[in-house]
Formats: sequence, structure tokens, C-alpha cells
Amino acid sequence: MSNYQATGNQGWKYLFNAPKQHYFKEGWSLCGRWMTIGWGECVEDNGKPQADECVSCRRKLTPAIAPKPKKRVKKVMPHESLDVAMAVVELLASK
Ligand SMILES: [Zn+2]
Repeated sequence: MSNYQATGNQGWKYLFNAPKQHYFKEGWSLCGRWMTIGWGECVEDNGKPQADECVSCRRKLTPAIAPKPKKRVKKVMPHESLDVAMAVVELLASK
């Protein structure tokens, strides 16, 4: 990992309370979920996926090498949608 360059306040960084590393720029993670006030140094991106990196940050930084989003199969169980329908019916009936 000798080609990693430590930079000031821009780059990949682990926070105490975040299990993944995020890419920080001007104090904020690219995914917009985290803020840092500059303890420790960030590691500049080298164009390769990092271990435990935040996928949202990666997508904003270099979309070309970001993992493709998995297709989410919407799971709605028949009884669940019926429950919702019944709740709506009850709500309407109560008015
Ligand atoms: Zn992130």
C-alpha cells in the first residue's frame, strides 16, 4: 500500500462510529451521512476499491469502478398488502 498518499482533509477515512470508510471532502463524506472535524489523516483515492469502503461514497467519487447496485426484488407478501388495505379501510371508516 505504498502508493497511498496521506492528504489533509480529503480522502478515505474511518470514523470511530462508522464501520466502513467513507470518502471525505471538505469535512463531509460524499454520501452525505458523516462529518469529520479532521482528526487523523485521510487517504487519497488510488482508483481502486478500498477495503470496507462506503459504496455510496464510491459511486459519487468514481462511478465507473463502483459495484453495480443489486436489483432489489420487491417482496410484498399477499397478506401484508391485505393488512395495509384493511388498515386503510379502517382509517377511512373511522372518519
Ligand atoms: Zn460514505
